Amino acid sequence: MEGIKIVDTTLRDGEQTAGVVFANREKIRIAKLLDQIGVDQIEAGIPVMGGDEKESIKTIVNAELDASIMAWNRAVVSDVKASLDCGADAVAISISTSDIHIEHKLKQDKDWVLSNMVKAVEFAKKNNLYVSVNAEDASRSDREFLIKFAKEAKEAGADRLRYCDTVGIMEPFDIHDRVKYIIDEVGIDIEMHTHNDFGLAAANGLAGVRAGANYLGVTVNGLGERAGNAALEEVVMALKYLYDVKMEFTTEDFRQLSEYVARASARDLPAWKAIVGTNMFAHESGIHADGVLKNASTYEVFTPEEVGLERQIIIGKHSGKKAIVNKFREYGIKLTDKEAEEVLSRVRESAVQYKRALFDKELIYIYEDYKEEVGEEWKQEKTS
Ligand SMILES: [Zn+2]
Repeated sequence: MEGIKIVDTTLRDGEQTAGVVFANREKIRIAKLLDQIGVDQIEAGIPVMGGDEKESIKTIVNAELDASIMAWNRAVVSDVKASLDCGADAVAISISTSDIHIEHKLKQDKDWVLSNMVKAVEFAKKNNLYVSVNAEDASRSDREFLIKFAKEAKEAGADRLRYCDTVGIMEPFDIHDRVKYIIDEVGIDIEMHTHNDFGLAAANGLAGVRAGANYLGVTVNGLGERAGNAALEEVVMALKYLYDVKMEFTTEDFRQLSEYVARASARDLPAWKAIVGTNMFAHESGIHADGVLKNASTYEVFTPEEVGLERQIIIGKHSGKKAIVNKFREYGIKLTDKEAEEVLSRVRESAVQYKRALFDKELIYIYEDYKEEVGEEWKQEKTS
């Protein structure tokens, strides 16, 4: 499973999310960040939309990034011409392959789909573009028609097939078998493009890779239509840690990139977001905090620094004595065993009352009140 290439479509499929619009300067910054992180190909937008969209794609092309810059097209020659105008080195040529789309959306037949795809691919190849043929709604397409479609795409010169689970209705075992069937029958590079309607986008993408797909389509934070796409940060870390694939990514910049895209898309990054959420390295429970303080690998698979986060020991209802002692040491206060016990029971009471973890100030107040009650002086030592 070596040599998996990551194709990011935050700027195309991500922006297609209802209500999301990136300013051009935001698009350019996102492209630069993606390149810096190590993404292999950036799907930068849809040239045929014209105006601003074309300008931003041209600027990204001119930024001379290491990543290949792909533009998105319908299977229409004039779309591909617009992509050529922008200077993209690669094109995605997209057309629906499922009966439901052909009949109700395109109002055409299968032969029309094949001939339009072939025409657009041949034109793109004549102009030396790298070509991904996107089988839109592939997961609901007739199995044998999809094979025919992939074969004709390959014959026309397509470099790969994008397997689109457009409505996100696949599960990992099924998608694995379907992708393997195409690879066995056609022998073409495959990109997985999966949506998250059942929360399985990353799992389905990875299942495709297991079946032999060598490209994985993603977006930052999983931003995308409806429930979104497979998330860049999730699949890269999964490939690295769960599949032992060597990934040359500067993952330390993941949090920064996620925050930037969250802001630019006006979509909050949840604290519990896999890989980059602030809760990833927050420990409160007594047993977990104690374990992490002794050896972080007891409850962490990778270090916070690896994705640009920090470890936090949260003091709240589930905290134990050791975490309290440790926390107060940060404030320059050495708690005796008895003090730690007293403070802990008050911490728990307050956390239940407030229904949350406690802030540093609140912890100090608890300690102050306790000392006052027992009539003892206390002072803070300088922390180093
Ligand atoms: Zn999509």
